[in-house]
Amino acid sequence: MAKKWNIETLAVHAGAEVDEATGAVTPPIHMSTTFERAKDGSYAHGYVYTRSNNPTRERLERALATLEGGEEAICFASGSAAAATIFHALHMGHHIIAPDDMYHGVRKMLNTTFAPWGLQMSFVDMTHPKNVVDALQPNTRLIWVETPSNPLLKITDIKLLAKIAHGHGAFLVVDATWTPATVQRPLALGADLVVHSSTKYLSGHSDVLGGAVIARKKGRFVERIRHIQEAEGAVPSPFDCWLTLRGLRTLPYRMRAHCENAGKVAAFLDAHPYVALVHYPGLDMHPGHRVAQAQMQQFGGMLSFEIIGGAPAAMKLCANLELFTRATSLGGIESLIEHRASTEGPESTAPQGLLRVSVGLEHPDDLIADLKQAFYKIRA
Ligand SMILES: *Cc1c(COP(=O)(O)O)cnc(C)c1O
Repeated sequence: MAKKWNIETLAVHAGAEVDEATGAVTPPIHMSTTFERAKDGSYAHGYVYTRSNNPTRERLERALATLEGGEEAICFASGSAAAATIFHALHMGHHIIAPDDMYHGVRKMLNTTFAPWGLQMSFVDMTHPKNVVDALQPNTRLIWVETPSNPLLKITDIKLLAKIAHGHGAFLVVDATWTPATVQRPLALGADLVVHSSTKYLSGHSDVLGGAVIARKKGRFVERIRHIQEAEGAVPSPFDCWLTLRGLRTLPYRMRAHCENAGKVAAFLDAHPYVALVHYPGLDMHPGHRVAQAQMQQFGGMLSFEIIGGAPAAMKLCANLELFTRATSLGGIESLIEHRASTEGPESTAPQGLLRVSVGLEHPDDLIADLKQAFYKIRA
């Protein structure tokens, strides 16, 4: 697909070619698990078996590679499966560096699955690149970045970390679940791989589980990830691929509104007397604001804040809300609010008074009015 087009155009047209067989404008969903061989034994259309490849999944992979600006995209049944495949593509005895604040599922996977398997790991505060340099070991093969991080929205300088990684012969991987390509472009900043939980913004409607790895360049490590996708089979169903493609078409416009709304909600919370701290990189006072301004096109649709009064006040506020849904996850059209420490469980490092918000596509005035009344009722 032509590179000169803007991302809104790419989002509408990438992997959206008219169906050659029927002229259908929207893509067919190819549910078939298997494909016929010709009389001479060849596979006329190139498809053999859906675990290996499927036309609907292929469309999604092409669309994601186009949007993120990579040479190849590889889709999975979930974001966790995408992450696990990257770690699995390393070897026992390799060392990775990951952020001290990161999506708890991936941290848990590293500690409970990949540490016993033989991967070595250090968790460091990546807001200070020096900590990453200090953690490098001769066997460090991969640096994993999440920026803004979950749930504290810490900001990491992607360009600088790419330099550090490449100077050491390591890969830089960015979990870009919170920041699709209209918000931040890690591959253009030097990252080797981008990981997405497409469960979130890419599909965008809280109705499909999926994941993807997008590579800046093809190469042996990417081939290995592709091989594991096929061999271990954590692939998305054709229907889920189709739903994700459908979501992608509106991604840039949804992201614009998510980010605008989040900025307004963050400003309201920042001024509220019951709020001790707002974590949102769009705020001037955020310690990562400068770096975020330089590397993000928008500041994202996610924020968290710490309420005065700890967990009891946080729970009370959530109970008082009428418009926000009390649920985990993010990136859907509806606003979600979550007490992160109790979701993550006893090992959680999230502050007890912290609430994480996925700001949806409702009118921002309505979201702010709902928060206002919920804060007011805490007092009563
Ligand atoms: C949700 C999420 C994941 C995991 O994705 P699943 O699709 O739930 O497996 C990974 N990273 C981040 C940042 C997430 O928000």
